[in-house]
Amino acid sequence: MAGKLTLIVGPMYSGKTSALLSLVEIYALGKKNYVVFKPEIDRRYSSEYVVSHSGMKTSALVVGSSESLHARMRELDGEKVQAVFVDEVHFLDEGIVDVAKGIIDQGIDVFCVGLDMSYRQKPFVVTAKLMAVADEIVKKRAVCHNCGEYNAVLSYRTTNDIEGDIDVGGMEKYVAVCRDCYKILSSKKTVHPQQAD
Ligand code: ADP
Ligand code: MG
Ligand code: ZN
Repeated sequence: MAGKLTLIVGPMYSGKTSALLSLVEIYALGKKNYVVFKPEIDRRYSSEYVVSHSGMKTSALVVGSSESLHARMRELDGEKVQAVFVDEVHFLDEGIVDVAKGIIDQGIDVFCVGLDMSYRQKPFVVTAKLMAVADEIVKKRAVCHNCGEYNAVLSYRTTNDIEGDIDVGGMEKYVAVCRDCYKILSSKKTVHPQQAD
């Protein structure tokens, strides 16, 4: 039987990695065979662990591309892996879509976690394509940094030094905000996030 592809998406601090870690724990408690991957680009906290903002963590294999993730999976062939987890999937190349499809066709469940939009509200194509082929999508929310409501669906860059859609950072650069507060905060900025390119 084919596996299932689940996508967990949302803005920063919306509990995506925490959700992944909870799922990993379920597989660990059940003594299942699973693999956790993280892209090489994300070295905010640790290069060998997937770490949530609240400090929970699990060890992970670091991969530089979808092809190296594919290669690692081929190496594990025969070990009866039941689930594959990928954190920060938006940092991987689009090849991950076919790689994920290949893995679920082998009867392995795949859980991908990532940002759905950049801080400029531009969809990450990798995440969007994975969502298109997913069996299940979970959209998470965070607490809005500005108004305190639990309706933050956007990541907002607090600094003015715009550097393109991908610029790895944490609380020193990004906050989660609701749509209304995104507009309010953007209107106060000298460089508007959606205009800069
Ligand atoms: P993500 O992977 O989506 O960035 P994490 O799972 O790593 O999120 O972190 C979620 C944790 O971040 C929460 O459990 C909470 O402790 C913390 N946190 C910090 N700021 C916020 C916020 N604005 N809204 C929700 N959680 C927040
Ligand atoms: Mg995360
Ligand atoms: Zn708000």
